[in-house]
Amino acid sequence: MSLDNSITTEGNPSCRRLSNVSASRADLFGGPNVLVPPKHLMASSDAAEIAMEMEMAKQHLEDESSSAEASPRAGSPVTTPLIPASTTTTDEFALAFDIDGVLIRGGQPIPAAIDALKYINGANPYGIKVPYIFVTNGGGKTEEERCIDLSRQLELEVSPGQFICGHTPMREMAAKYNTVLVVGGEGEKCRVVAEGYGFKDVVTPGDIIKTRHDTTPFRKLTEEEYRNSRVRDFSKIQIEAVFVFADSRDWAGDQQIILDVLMSKNGRLDERSETFDEGPPIFFSHNDVVWSTSHEHSRIGMGAFELTTIAFGKPQLGTFEFATRLLRQWRKDTHSIDKPPQTVYFVGDTPESDIRGTNEFNEISEATWFSILVKTGVYQEGTIPRYPPKKTCETVLDAVKFAIDRELTQKPTPSGNGAVRN
Ligand SMILES: [Mg+2]
Repeated sequence: MSLDNSITTEGNPSCRRLSNVSASRADLFGGPNVLVPPKHLMASSDAAEIAMEMEMAKQHLEDESSSAEASPRAGSPVTTPLIPASTTTTDEFALAFDIDGVLIRGGQPIPAAIDALKYINGANPYGIKVPYIFVTNGGGKTEEERCIDLSRQLELEVSPGQFICGHTPMREMAAKYNTVLVVGGEGEKCRVVAEGYGFKDVVTPGDIIKTRHDTTPFRKLTEEEYRNSRVRDFSKIQIEAVFVFADSRDWAGDQQIILDVLMSKNGRLDERSETFDEGPPIFFSHNDVVWSTSHEHSRIGMGAFELTTIAFGKPQLGTFEFATRLLRQWRKDTHSIDKPPQTVYFVGDTPESDIRGTNEFNEISEATWFSILVKTGVYQEGTIPRYPPKKTCETVLDAVKFAIDRELTQKPTPSGNGAVRN
């Protein structure tokens, strides 16, 4: 049995998922707090602002890519997208890709990935381009930084305007909470991400440890961590929410600090709740129990944090709503397509997040969301996925070929191949 089939939070009585619409105060503040994305994440009013920010990031990315002094990456220049002049762009369907275990594994591209992206950028028998986005639960650095990495790995320009990671939707929580504890990732990166999202006062575990070193008896800050961390007067600070942006690099220490905050009275570290139910809410960027790396066996992710379950990322429907808005904006900005796609093919390697989310979102979405499972990541051949995909393919190249063939040969449209001139 594969690991991903044997470990699941489903049915675990310690894990509850609540809707912020139906949850009572007792639900929210009684025991471990579990929130799904708030209703406003579904609203379209923020889309333009997000798109604008992403376009600015995209422009920044382009500037950096085109600069002869893009020094850290000068040895690996970003290649020009493969867009033959005669290519047409379909407005009928779109693609969405998970990254780890589908396109990248252990920091290296999966061999079929580069060909798959060439294929959907016009190098296919139909001469069409298919708009696409990336939806990963990974995170821990800015979207812009991750896109530069991806561009280099995949030999193709990837824009922040077509990219969602686990914590991307958390940017919409910045207006709601003033002082927040941000956990996970390397060094100061997640503080930088959170501040970039607009969070006004970001506390890290490093700040708490530097201020009071006996908080975590077995964790000592490195010199760099000590230098970057900030001594704070926590008697005057109220932590209003906890955000786990990326996998912790020190689970023991971070769990201790998260517990201290959750068991505090109103997020004040020097005041413990007598009933342990007065702490702030906690949001996770995803709840993947396992994920695919260069190791031959799947590695555990933050979903194995038994503390609670999560708020964002796949399979949460709010993330798919966010993806829908991003895809709409991306198609409009880059392909001048001002209508929603009829079908979105989602290619992923994890039944519990990619396939489950796609299938469940398909039930409520106007567009058809079609799940494709690939065998290059978490899913292991021979096992029966708990959440069955509509289609299983060996690799991402097989997946995109299947999707395009299905659209252009099996689903003829009145306009022929359903493609428009770009
Ligand atoms: Mg994956």
